[in-house]
Amino acid sequence: MASFQFSATNLPTQLFVNNEYVPAKNAKTFSVLSPKDGSLVSDKVPLADKADVDRAVDAAEAAFPAWRAVSAVERREIMLKFASLLDQHSEALAELSRITQGAPYLAWGKFEIAVAAEAFRYYAGWIDKFQGDAYPEEDGFLKITRHEPLGVTAGIVPWNGPLGSAGTKMAPALATGNTFILKPSEKTPFASLGLGPLIKEAGFPPGVLQVLSGDGSTGALLASHMRIRKISFTGSIPTGKRIQQYAAESNLKRVTLELGGKSPAIIFDDANLDNTVSWCVNAIAANTGQICFAASRIYVQEGIKEKFLEKYKAALQERGQATGDPDQPTTLMGPLVDEAQFKRVTGFIERGASQGTLILGGKRIGNSGFFVEPTLFADVPQDAEIYQQEIFGPVGIVNTFKTEGEVIKKANATEYGLMAGIFTQDINRALRVSSALDSGMVGVNLVSRYFLNAPFGGTKQSGIGRENGRAALEAFTDTKTVMVNLTY
Ligand code: NAD
Repeated sequence: MASFQFSATNLPTQLFVNNEYVPAKNAKTFSVLSPKDGSLVSDKVPLADKADVDRAVDAAEAAFPAWRAVSAVERREIMLKFASLLDQHSEALAELSRITQGAPYLAWGKFEIAVAAEAFRYYAGWIDKFQGDAYPEEDGFLKITRHEPLGVTAGIVPWNGPLGSAGTKMAPALATGNTFILKPSEKTPFASLGLGPLIKEAGFPPGVLQVLSGDGSTGALLASHMRIRKISFTGSIPTGKRIQQYAAESNLKRVTLELGGKSPAIIFDDANLDNTVSWCVNAIAANTGQICFAASRIYVQEGIKEKFLEKYKAALQERGQATGDPDQPTTLMGPLVDEAQFKRVTGFIERGASQGTLILGGKRIGNSGFFVEPTLFADVPQDAEIYQQEIFGPVGIVNTFKTEGEVIKKANATEYGLMAGIFTQDINRALRVSSALDSGMVGVNLVSRYFLNAPFGGTKQSGIGRENGRAALEAFTDTKTVMVNLTY
């Protein structure tokens, strides 16, 4: 049994470097507040600065040669054990996120930690199957390729799925023999900082998997570091652009960017109504709408509009009624993550009143904490802010359309391209529209869903590169071509 004793009353407030908890080399700390009532959770979270980043990179660099040489069987066992430990401590880890994130366990925390655990299992299985290629040798030369690890890699993650987004980066990085430094969001540092005892118990050697808490300044140090060879980033578009700049200006480290979304759900007249409503409600209500691929733009064909809207609004309203204290097991929707996010979302709602017709919600829930009602605007023009920008809250728009050609143009009319959903019983139409949409992922009779074994990522400004599946293994390795002269 791991010596895992962290909880809301015993928070991890040290960096995890070289398999030990250590204080930051400087005295800088930052504070985190509870989103359910604004109270102080801790003012002692260490802010890793240059000396801390250098110390972690030194340890990661020292650990790399031995870690890449660990046998596939041994590495697999370590990763499988870590997955089991994540499952075993799921409730405690979720609590460490929930106190500053506000996501209920059954409706979100449990799921996102299961994603992290499953990522370790999935990539553990790949370790001895990620083979290179061999090419025709009729010319007297054998050519083979190998996937080589990059060395010290790092992940910078947001607050909405603190361990899920970390797991889908850590697991492929470690499976391919890299060492990895995780920087959680300054809004949700504790579940990541709490991983220390589990990392040790799983058997990861010192320096292989480390955690540095900090804010954007820590992220910038990682992205600019001359000895870090890859950054896998999930977060907002402006930060993603900065990361790419830091990478270019330092050592041309590899960069994967998973950025925002403004995902359309397209509902044709022949769609199965119950299925459509169920996916569309989950797509904007899960995690209080703070999901990158939330279906926040609904396009419904005129013939089914009234029936769809009636059911969609009723179901969303019902979900909204289960908003409340995230520590209660019956709560389905918690607060928004913090005051800044609350101001951002309510600002969009206020300005949206003059951009479209408010047809559901629009108000704050209660007087303390950062709770908002699920909110819908109808008939929103294409140039409106609430049509074009990611809100990252339970706020959607609903527009109508007549023809397939018209809705494709409307759906493609933003700078985002992460996810899209098509609801129809006509498979030909589904396939036609799926190929016409500018989107990294398209669901047919589903939306806002992803799978660990299939590529995940966006087109246009929604990102660069793909996570999950084999794509993530490729993103954490470089291809080496070995050529052999067969005539000597
Ligand atoms: P953010 O960009 O503000 O922060 C993300 C991370 O980047 C944090 O760890 C932060 O400390 C760090 N950071 C901030 N400034 C930095 C800098 N200059 N250099 C390096 N690192 C820096 O994003 P957020 O508000 O935490 O998360 C919300 C955003 O994340 C939304 O836009 C959402 O769509 C996106 N997101 C995308 C996906 C996806 O997979 N596509 C998944 C979840 C969230």
